[in-house]
Amino acid sequence: MQEAGIQSSTQNSGAEAIIRAEKIEKYYAQPSQNRVQVISPTDLKIVPGEILALLGPSGSGKSTMLRMLTGLSRPSAGQVFWHEKPIADAEINVSIVFQSFALFPWLTVLENVEAPLQARGVAPEERHTRSMRMLDTVGLDGFESAYPKELSGGMKQRVGFARALVVEPEVLFMDEPFSALDVLTAENLRSELLELWANRTMPTKAVFLVTHNIEEAVLLADRIIVLGRNPGHIRTDFRVQLAQPRDRKSEPFTQLVDYIYKVLTKPDVAPAEAPDQQPRVRDQRQMKYQMLPHARPGGVAGLLELLLDKGGRDDIYRMADDLAFEIDDLLPIVDAAQLLGFLKIEEGDAAITETGTQFANSEILRQKELFRDAALQNVLLLRQIRRALEAKSDHTVPEEFFLDLLDEQFSEEEGRRQMETAITWGRYAELFDFDAARRRFVMPDALEEGVAADGGNV
Ligand code: ADP
Ligand code: MG
Repeated sequence: MQEAGIQSSTQNSGAEAIIRAEKIEKYYAQPSQNRVQVISPTDLKIVPGEILALLGPSGSGKSTMLRMLTGLSRPSAGQVFWHEKPIADAEINVSIVFQSFALFPWLTVLENVEAPLQARGVAPEERHTRSMRMLDTVGLDGFESAYPKELSGGMKQRVGFARALVVEPEVLFMDEPFSALDVLTAENLRSELLELWANRTMPTKAVFLVTHNIEEAVLLADRIIVLGRNPGHIRTDFRVQLAQPRDRKSEPFTQLVDYIYKVLTKPDVAPAEAPDQQPRVRDQRQMKYQMLPHARPGGVAGLLELLLDKGGRDDIYRMADDLAFEIDDLLPIVDAAQLLGFLKIEEGDAAITETGTQFANSEILRQKELFRDAALQNVLLLRQIRRALEAKSDHTVPEEFFLDLLDEQFSEEEGRRQMETAITWGRYAELFDFDAARRRFVMPDALEEGVAADGGNV
C-alpha cells in the first residue's frame, strides 16, 4: 500500500497541479444517430507559475476543454481535479475572460467589475475599493460610470480583464480574449497582461489561454499544447523557453511559429520535437565570441550544394525530412552556413546568398579561399588566432592563450568544444595549422618552412 502511494506521487513529480484532468472526454448525443465525440480521452495539468496556451484550429474543442477544466461543463467520461479534489466537490477559484467580453450591458463599468465580488458576498465598501483599484490597474480610471456600449472593443475587454482579476483568481482562463480586437489594441492588451503577470501585480498562479493564433501563443506562453480535431486530442505539448519580452522577428521565434504551423497544417503527420530554442548566432551580438555551431566545413558545403540544387531556397524542416536528418543535426550546419554569410533564414526557409552560391559552384581550392574570407570576416576567434600568428616573429601561438579568453565566456567544456570547432574550420580554410602534440597554432607557411629547414638539417 505504502509503496503504491509513493509510486504514484513520483509519477506526478514536478510542481503540484492546480487543475488536473484525467482521461476527460466529451461527446454529444445526436437525435438520429450515434453520439458525436468532441474530445477524445485527454490528460492535462495546469501547474503554478506558467502561462499555458491551448492552440488549435477552430472546432478542435478548445472551448469545450476550457469549459470542462473550469467546471462549467462536466466531462462525459474521466475526471477533473482541483488540487487533487474532484472539481465538483472543491471550492475552485478561477475566472474566465471571453472573446465576446460578456459584459452586462445594463450595468456600469464599475458595477460590471463589482458583480463577481457581489456574487461572492464581498461587502459593498470592500467591493468598491477593490474594483476601483482594479479599474486603475487596467487603465480604466475615469470610466467607472460609463456603460459598455459607450466603450471601444479594447476598453470593453479591459473591463473583462478587470472583472476577471478583481476576484484574484488562482487560475485565469481566457478564451480567445484578443480575437475580437484590432491588431494594435490586441498587441497593447497582450503586453499589459504580460506586465501584470511578470510584475506579480496579480496574485494569479497560472494562466490558461485558448487561442487559434500561433504568434499569440508563442508571444505569451511558457507552454503550448496543440490540439487536433475530429475528435479533439493533444498533438504536441512543449515548453517555450524564449526570454520575455519576445521578439517576433528573432530566429528562434520564427522557427517556433514555423514548427507549430507545420504541426497544424499536417494533421496526419506525427509532430516532430519542438525546435531547440537556444539563442542562435544572431542573438548573441552582445557576446564577444559568437557561439560556433559544431559543424564541419564539409557539412556546410554539402548543405549549400543541396540548397542550390533546390533552386537556392528551401524549408529547413522539409530539407531535414528529405535528408532523413534529425532537425537537431541539421540546425548546426544551417547555423554555421548562416554565421559565415552563406545563407540567410527567412520565414523558416534557408535562402542561399550570393557568396553561398559562389561557394557551392566552386572547386575545392576556391571553396577553401571563400571559406577563409568568410571565416576571417565573421568569426572573431579565427580572426584573433590569425592576427596573433601574423604578429609573432616565430608565427606560432599556444592554444592555451585563446582557451583562457574563451573561458571568460563559456564553461571550460564548451570553451574546449569551441576551440575544436575553430581548429577544424581554421585548418580547412588553411588559416593556420595546429600542432596537436605541442597544442600550438602554427602559420601554414611557417610550418612548411620549418619542415623544409628540418629536412635541410637531416
Ligand atoms: P473550438 O473552441 O476549438 O473552436 P469548440 O470546443 O467550440 O471548438 O467545439 C468543438 C466541437 O464540438 C465543434 O465541432 C462543435 O461543433 C462541437 N460542439 C460544441 N458544442 C456542442 C453541442 N452542444 N452539441 C454538439 N456539438 C457541439
Ligand atoms: Mg472556441
